[in-house]
Amino acid sequence: MPLIDELQAIVGADHVFTAPQDTAPYVVDWRRRFTGTALAVVRPRDTAAVARVVRACAHHGAPVVPQGGNTGLVGGGTPDSSGRAVLVSTRRLNRVRAIDTANDTITVEAGCILQRVQEAAAERDRLFPLSLAAQGSCTIGGNLATNAGGVQVLRYGNARELALGLEVVLPDGQVWDGLRGLRKDNTGYDLKHLFIGAEGTLGIITAATLRLYPLPRVRLTALAALPDLGRAVALMARARDRAGPLLTAFEVMSAACLQAVARELPGTRLPLPADDGWFALLELSDHEDDAHATALLEALLAAALEAGEVRDVVVARSLTESRTLWRLREDIPEAQRHAGGNIKHDIALPVSAIPAFVAATDAALRARFSWIQPIVFGHLGDGNLHYNMGGVPGTPLATVFAHEAAVQRLVNDAVQAHQGSISAEHGIGQLKRDLLPDYKSALELDLMRAIKAALDPTDRMNPGKLLATAAPSGDTVQAR
Ligand SMILES: Cc1cc2nc3c(=O)[nH]c(=O)nc-3n(C[C@H](O)[C@H](O)[C@H](O)COP(=O)(O)OP(=O)(O)OC[C@H]3O[C@@H](n4cnc5c(N)ncnc54)[C@H](O)[C@@H]3O)c2cc1C
Repeated sequence: MPLIDELQAIVGADHVFTAPQDTAPYVVDWRRRFTGTALAVVRPRDTAAVARVVRACAHHGAPVVPQGGNTGLVGGGTPDSSGRAVLVSTRRLNRVRAIDTANDTITVEAGCILQRVQEAAAERDRLFPLSLAAQGSCTIGGNLATNAGGVQVLRYGNARELALGLEVVLPDGQVWDGLRGLRKDNTGYDLKHLFIGAEGTLGIITAATLRLYPLPRVRLTALAALPDLGRAVALMARARDRAGPLLTAFEVMSAACLQAVARELPGTRLPLPADDGWFALLELSDHEDDAHATALLEALLAAALEAGEVRDVVVARSLTESRTLWRLREDIPEAQRHAGGNIKHDIALPVSAIPAFVAATDAALRARFSWIQPIVFGHLGDGNLHYNMGGVPGTPLATVFAHEAAVQRLVNDAVQAHQGSISAEHGIGQLKRDLLPDYKSALELDLMRAIKAALDPTDRMNPGKLLATAAPSGDTVQAR
C-alpha cells in the first residue's frame, strides 16, 4: 500500500495533510528562517497511532520529523526541502493522564500545551514550574526535546530536572514505557536523559511524568534599574543571600530591550525611564503570607538602594501590575521579530564571568562593526544570556545579516574563551548544527554519533538536526 494510504488508514484521512495550503503552517519555523517541504503532515491521537505511523515510515524508508507547538527557535521542527519527510504533529496527543498529589506528579501526553499543564496542576493546588514566554503555544514534548529553560530555572531547574519518566516511540516503532514517577531509580543507564534535549533525533516523546511542587501563596515582582551589569550580579547575590529558595526568578534586560518593546509594540508603557543602563526583574514566591514576602522584598531593595546597586525600583502591588512588568520581559522576542529580526546568540556562561564577557565582547563587536547595537537580555540566575545583535536605528537589515557569520564567529569564540556554551536553552537544530563541531570536542561528538547510530541506525528520525547528515537542510528565506 502507498505510504499516504497507510497513514490515512492509521489516523483517518482528516488528519493527514498533503496539500501545500494545509502543510504550510507546519513547514516554516517561528522566526521564518527555515522553510521545508513535507510529504505529509500527520496528526495521530494516541501513542499506538504514533507507533504505527513511525513503523509505516520505517517500512517505506521515509524520514520522520516530530513537531509540537512549532515555537522552537533553531529550525529543529522544520523538515528539509526534499519533500520526503513525514511530519508527525503531536498537537492532538493532548490528554492529562493522571495527577498524583501524594506523589507530587502529573502525567501528560506530549502534545499538551505547557500552560494547560500549569493550569491542571494549579487546579489541584500544585505548581508545575516550567514557565516561558511561548507557554501558550509550546508543548511538553517540545519542552523536553529541547530541554527548555525559561524564567524559573534558578529555583526549579530546567525541563530535564522536572521529568521523572517518559514514554517514547523509537525510530523502529517500538514503544518504550518509562513512565515512572520515581525520584530514586538506580537500575542502570537513565534512558530518559537520552531523549531529553535530543531535539527529536532519537524518538518521539509521547508522554511524560513530571514533578509538581507546592503552589506558593504569594508572588511579588519588582523591576529595578541598575547602573551596570556588574551591579545586577551583585543584586542577585544579595537576593539569593536574603531570600534563598524564595527567589524564583531573576531576569536582566538592557535599556535597548525596553526601548525596542516601547518602540515596536504600541500601547507599551515603561514604568521607569530606560535611557541607559540595565534592568532586573525579580520575583519572590512565598509560602507564608503577604506581609512576610513584602517585608523581605522591601528590606532587600532598601539595602540594594543604599549600596548603590539599584538606581530606582518599582514593585508590583497587584497581579495585574505584576503581569505588566512580566510583559515587558516576555515581549522582547516579539518586539525583535516586529523589527525584522537580529543575529541571535542563546549562550550560557558562568554567572561570575558575565559582566566581563559582555564588556569585552560588546567592545570587540563595536570596534569591528560600526553599525551594531546589542539587544541583550536573559536569565541571569542561570547564566543564560540572549546576546542578540541588531543595527542602530536606520541600519538596513541587509547590512546586519550580511555580517551574520562573522558576528556569530566572534561571539561564539568569546563564549568559548569564557568557558561558556553556544546553546543554553534553545538547542542546536539546523541553525547551529554546522557550528557545533567547532565548539564541542571530537570525543563528545563521536559519543553523540554512537548513541544516534545505536537508536536510529538508518538516520530517519529528524535527520539533519543537531548532527549533520547527507540530507539537504531547509531553505533559508529572507524574512527573519
Ligand atoms: C516568544 C518565545 C519565547 C521563548 N522563550 C523560551 C525560553 O524562555 N526558554 C526556552 O527554553 N525556550 C524558549 N523558546 C523556545 C521554544 O518555545 C522552546 O524551545 C519550546 O520548548 C519548544 O516547544 P514546541 O512544542 O514549540 O516544540 P517545536 O518547536 O515543535 O519543536 C522543537 C524541537 O523539539 C522536537 N520535538 C517536538 N515535540 C517532540 C516530541 N514530542 N518528541 C520528540 N521531539 C519533539 C522537534 O523535532 C524540534 O527539534 C521561546 C520561543 C518563543 C517563540
